[in-house]
Amino acid sequence: MYRTDYQFEWYYRTTNVRVCIFQLIKLFIIALPIVGCKVNTIENTAILNVNIVDVVDGSILPSDAVLIQDGIIIKIDESERIRETAASSKSYQVIDGDGGYLIPGLFDLHIHNRGATDQVLQVYLLNGITTVRNMNGSDGGKDHISIGKQIASGARSGPRYYSSTPFVTGSFRESDVEDFIKESKETGYHGLKIHDNIPVDTYNKIIEYSNSVGLPVYGHAQRDKDLAQSLRMLEIVHIEEFVYLIEQSERTSDYLNQVIADVKQSGVWICPTLMIYACHIDYYKKTFFDSLSSIPFIEFVDNQQYELYTSERNPYRQNLRRQALYDYARTNYGVELESEDQAVDFVVSETSKNLEFMKELLLQMIQEDIPLITGSDSFGLLPHGFGLHLELELWQNAGVHPSLILKSATYNSANYMKLDNGEISVGKMADLVLLKENPLDDIKATQSISGIYFKGQFYDSTYIESKLQTLKFRTLD
Ligand SMILES: [Zn+2]
Repeated sequence: MYRTDYQFEWYYRTTNVRVCIFQLIKLFIIALPIVGCKVNTIENTAILNVNIVDVVDGSILPSDAVLIQDGIIIKIDESERIRETAASSKSYQVIDGDGGYLIPGLFDLHIHNRGATDQVLQVYLLNGITTVRNMNGSDGGKDHISIGKQIASGARSGPRYYSSTPFVTGSFRESDVEDFIKESKETGYHGLKIHDNIPVDTYNKIIEYSNSVGLPVYGHAQRDKDLAQSLRMLEIVHIEEFVYLIEQSERTSDYLNQVIADVKQSGVWICPTLMIYACHIDYYKKTFFDSLSSIPFIEFVDNQQYELYTSERNPYRQNLRRQALYDYARTNYGVELESEDQAVDFVVSETSKNLEFMKELLLQMIQEDIPLITGSDSFGLLPHGFGLHLELELWQNAGVHPSLILKSATYNSANYMKLDNGEISVGKMADLVLLKENPLDDIKATQSISGIYFKGQFYDSTYIESKLQTLKFRTLD
């Protein structure tokens, strides 16, 4: 008898608890669409009333809504029908896109996470960048593979995160190649990052052995070798490399056409990273460091880089002080200069010409359908996250049509990474960014973010703006 009572009481209590939990869940679900909560228990998410950008052919889809389940786009249709389908599920949230433009999450495939990891990762994500690749496996002495795994498992918040190996430089021994590549592959590095001018035997072995185990090789061009050698890599990580491969006197249209044809035929991918080169031209200018507050988004430059680049230890400031620019001009251009001012003017003018050359090449490459991906190479005073938008703007400034910039920053980059999040179509991962303006008209629209949908969570503009305030590394005077 006692036993039965006990059992009854146990049943009664647990039933009450169950009822109570059920009520709480119900309340929670009802509250979800109201607060736009960031919880993964929602079965379906409907994003209504949007211009869905087809990044593959640069157009707007006829339908104006998407339905997402478990992070995958399961339906694209008219808003009313999507709303009805969503409502048939147990739990759902509805997001009104308010006539904005929906694009896939952006890719920054050349980052350097050397400082405050979590702060930096959030800045990327809230800039609509949902996939990043760190481009030196030893950056900041961090374990970049673990960072990627923590994000993938949900233990850490941030964009999808990949990393190259530590930089393989000229001192790397040929006898170490096989072990290094095997180990890198096992560790989970995305690819092997290589410096310029690797001794030819070591280089050959790296390319051949990496190909045999399926580890991509990418990096700087082999500036001391024929172009054909560099084109054996999967990717050249700066368009700047062509400045070193092609001397100014060789930059005739016939020669360049041949270069473009060779690049195209090789299938090599190019990640231009124009902006970082443009930044460095600024660093040469003598007054540049006098007005730091005018540098775009300087509040978001990681402390570690900010301190290095604004201090007297900054290699560029040191170079100027030591008048190394004289040597630079003499060695690279055979020019003897008489004063420090003259040296600065000369170097700024020559590097600016190089930037123009890089822009022309970029335009020609995109016209020839050479596969381009996007990366900012953010370090120094180029901020994380925001730096990618500045890079995209510079492409537009070079004459590239915004639709092709967007395609490179999403579809091409996703294909390159073998990921399924580079376009808005059924079956693709729902890494989505909502913009106020049309990015097909002007790529600066990628800076008009009004919402981000990522891994089941929707971040609205209020959240993004207030969160970004907390992620600043410093305030300006
Ligand atoms: Zn880099």
